[in-house]
Amino acid sequence: MIQQLLDRWKEEFGEVWGAKLGRAPGRVNLIGEHTDYNDGFVLPCAIEPAVWILARAREDTRICLVSLNYNERHESDVNDLHRGTELSWSDYLLGVVSVFQQEGYASGGWDAVIGGDVPLGAGLSSSAAVEVATGTVLREMFQLPMEDREMALLCQRAENMYVGVQCGVMDQFASTFGKVDHALLLDCRSLEIRQVPAHLKDTEIVICDSKVQRNLSGSEYNIRRAQCREGVHVLREKFGERICALRDASLDDLEMCRERMSDPVYRRCRHVMTENPRVLEGVRSLESGDPAKFGRLMLESHRSLRDDYEVSCPELDLLVDLAIECRGVAGSRMTGAGFGGCTVSLVERSCLDQFCAHVISRYARKTGREPEIYVTRPGSGAAIVDVF
Ligand code: ADP
Ligand code: MG
Repeated sequence: MIQQLLDRWKEEFGEVWGAKLGRAPGRVNLIGEHTDYNDGFVLPCAIEPAVWILARAREDTRICLVSLNYNERHESDVNDLHRGTELSWSDYLLGVVSVFQQEGYASGGWDAVIGGDVPLGAGLSSSAAVEVATGTVLREMFQLPMEDREMALLCQRAENMYVGVQCGVMDQFASTFGKVDHALLLDCRSLEIRQVPAHLKDTEIVICDSKVQRNLSGSEYNIRRAQCREGVHVLREKFGERICALRDASLDDLEMCRERMSDPVYRRCRHVMTENPRVLEGVRSLESGDPAKFGRLMLESHRSLRDDYEVSCPELDLLVDLAIECRGVAGSRMTGAGFGGCTVSLVERSCLDQFCAHVISRYARKTGREPEIYVTRPGSGAAIVDVF
């Protein structure tokens, strides 16, 4: 990837002297799904695939961006940033420039070549990788006095305000704070983070892309959020101000309110309230080097997402079923918002070949789709890379 960036740079901009190279990874959520907007816990890790940006400040105010993945060049001016009517890859970079500006972090013009191997739109957060890589090189080029946490939050804001996607903060935090062989416990209420050593031994993280587009995910996502709000409302009527979010109620509390809510709302709440403890138990099992235990929690999480939260789909269920038929699989679950996207499984290294052969052939036979499989370990977070 670095060589491709350098070659393209020479074609587009000539001499590479003085350029900075930034890198930011994609992420996968190991456990803790649909807990983020309920003030709960998530446990993602950075993955090895990443987005890379080679960039250099210019004397003027032009911004010239070249994408390897799209084979396109895009030019704009730092004093005239606005989103076009159609969303373009360049908006993910310009959004970060724009949000930095709003916060008083001034930058000038710059040239850049961007490329990466995080699959686009598969749910592994290539978008956050682009934003965080952009934030990382901007901070370096223009010597912006900005800490990681603020950078991650501003990148999230760029996706919310400029790109127009209402994502939570998990993706940008995972891409920023990822650490080799660690998962990241994020408390979505306090935004406190904890690096959790992931003693996976001979186990690999295997991501299977169902190749099903997450079409429903927007509208269904909003419905789930409304149902959670309704659950909070009912709990609050009974228990008062101590309930600000589903995080604040116990399963016993929920049972006492069961009659007062519809069955779907009850089950949505039950998912969130069982998922949070699963995340914390998952942390303990990783720390104690017990991937088998972690895998059982993943499977429970999947069943809860499938039956109580109802955000899975037949293809994701099939991928999980095929995975757990295989030898050496500790656990498997859907990851991301649902209705398509990926599953994540823990698979013993010696069983990987068999796993891939089994899942690919059976999945293709039943669905007519070829799944994509990525094998990774928890990777490092965003950084400036010294190549020269
Ligand atoms: P996800 O974050 O799940 O991969 P999104 O739809 O949120 O999917 O983000 C994908 C978009 O991010 C792409 O359509 C593209 O605009 C931008 N993007 C991702 N990776 C790159 C890249 N390597 N180069 C340029 N743009 C990218
Ligand atoms: Mg995204």
